[in-house]
Amino acid sequence: MTNSPKFALALHGGAGAQKGRSYDRAEAHLASIAAEGETMLKDGASAVDVVEAMVREMEASGLYVAGRGSAPNSAGYVELDAAIMDGTGRNAGAVAAIRDVKHPISAARALMDETPYVMLAGEGATKFAAKQGLESVVDPDDYYTLPDGTTEEDTQTETLAHGTVGAVALDIHGGLAAATSTGGVFGKPEGRLGDTPINGIGNWADSEVAVSCTGVGEYFILSGGAGLVANATKLAGDSLEDAAWRMLDDVKSLNGDGGVIAVNKAGEIVMAYNSDGMKRASVSSVAPVVATTFAPCR
Ligand code: ASP
Repeated sequence: MTNSPKFALALHGGAGAQKGRSYDRAEAHLASIAAEGETMLKDGASAVDVVEAMVREMEASGLYVAGRGSAPNSAGYVELDAAIMDGTGRNAGAVAAIRDVKHPISAARALMDETPYVMLAGEGATKFAAKQGLESVVDPDDYYTLPDGTTEEDTQTETLAHGTVGAVALDIHGGLAAATSTGGVFGKPEGRLGDTPINGIGNWADSEVAVSCTGVGEYFILSGGAGLVANATKLAGDSLEDAAWRMLDDVKSLNGDGGVIAVNKAGEIVMAYNSDGMKRASVSSVAPVVATTFAPCR
């Protein structure tokens, strides 16, 4: 008897979920796209193609604070951040404070695939996306919408209401990849960047592990985020779960909170958070699709 090939996929729709609100639509959506990702992985797709596809679906849905569901900054317009990393060959791309691009993650992917650069910001990033022929938002007032479980009041908040989407995957060839995309925190000042567009903080993949973070990015930058998780498994010998908690506990010690999803080359999946909840889903060669927001993670 031959073993079926190993694959694993985890998704998050942000750790800004608040108790008492319903995220049914987001959970149903996460479950359905995880099933699509499962099919792609079973068919031999690369981890990097799968994480990009998953994030594109989340960006287009308007259900999360990323892509279509992003809220305007304090100056009244939407700025988006995204990062992608392919552990196979260790390549990366990221865009920061990009405007009116439907799929920031594909701008990050194009930067990774087509140029020697790993990060573009602001007007340069927006122009790059246009040159690549990526779809733009023609009528921002019509396109952007409030995500699942969010009220108009949240967008006026000064308490850093937030959300992000992310995907990590192990493919059947042993490749790992991570992708993360966000509209950032509500009411952010113009030009504000969090952890998401910084590969090594909000997003990371190498030949052993892939990680995507969500939470108020300032704290993740101060803690080392995804890079800390990856390094703790490699340098400190932490299990994937211990490494995730090492980082989240540090975020907490700084008075922040949030969540992280990670997968390693053994096919282990960790989805951990210390905020109220994290919209998330997973599937692997040994476990069916599961989607939840508030189920305890340990
Ligand atoms: N990390 C994102 C940011 O700070 C927000 C989030 O993940 O909820 O921009």
